[in-house]
Amino acid sequence: MLAVLRRGLPAVANLLLPQDCFVCGDDCGPGPVCAACRTLLPSQPAGCPVCAVPTEEGLTCGRCLRDPPAFDATHAGFAYAFPLDRIVQALKYRHRLALAGFLADALLPLVPPEKAVLLPMPLHVRRLRERGFNQAVEIARPLARAIGLPLELGAVRRVLNTAPQASLPWKARRVNMRGAFRCDASFTGKTVIVVDDVMTTGATLDELARTLKRHGAARVENLVVARTPSPA
Ligand SMILES: [Zn+2]
Ligand SMILES: [Zn+2]
Repeated sequence: MLAVLRRGLPAVANLLLPQDCFVCGDDCGPGPVCAACRTLLPSQPAGCPVCAVPTEEGLTCGRCLRDPPAFDATHAGFAYAFPLDRIVQALKYRHRLALAGFLADALLPLVPPEKAVLLPMPLHVRRLRERGFNQAVEIARPLARAIGLPLELGAVRRVLNTAPQASLPWKARRVNMRGAFRCDASFTGKTVIVVDDVMTTGATLDELARTLKRHGAARVENLVVARTPSPA
């Protein structure tokens, strides 16, 4: 019935109609995921305060102790598992942009209290052209609006399109990402909150944090929708 109604309406009117839940397909009122499916979203277990990898009693992990990354803290909304993985993939590869607002709402309670700027993980221009949008920007924009923090767009560019290879050891992955970003602004004394969808190896976030610190950032914290269970 709703599908029939929706077909003849412009996109804006569609937003006002109750929608089918993205996960189970039932009618779910406003928003893309119903209340029941929201309870299924995989919470992130206690983890390392620096990189958010699950650890016993939330202690700092061995890797961050041995070889600290350039970022200072990581806040992860969820574990990267069903149905959250589907939600993130649908946003990225099937252009379900309504899901970005839903994920931003979920991250809201995790935003650290200090005064900061929000910086979405930049996408290489070639990826941006292929996809048509940067999912990190789509998540960070409603978040910035909701908490009243400035959104930093355009100050940092991704100039290398390399993805960190999970098969490489951590040190090699870091080297692999060197020079991936170019920054044209000063972040002197600022706290920067980097917003990203999924944190896997952390090597890209590490390189971005290194770039921001070279340009004066006092503190860099990652705010990610989901964390994969292990860095490799
Ligand atoms: Zn549902
Ligand atoms: Zn760690």
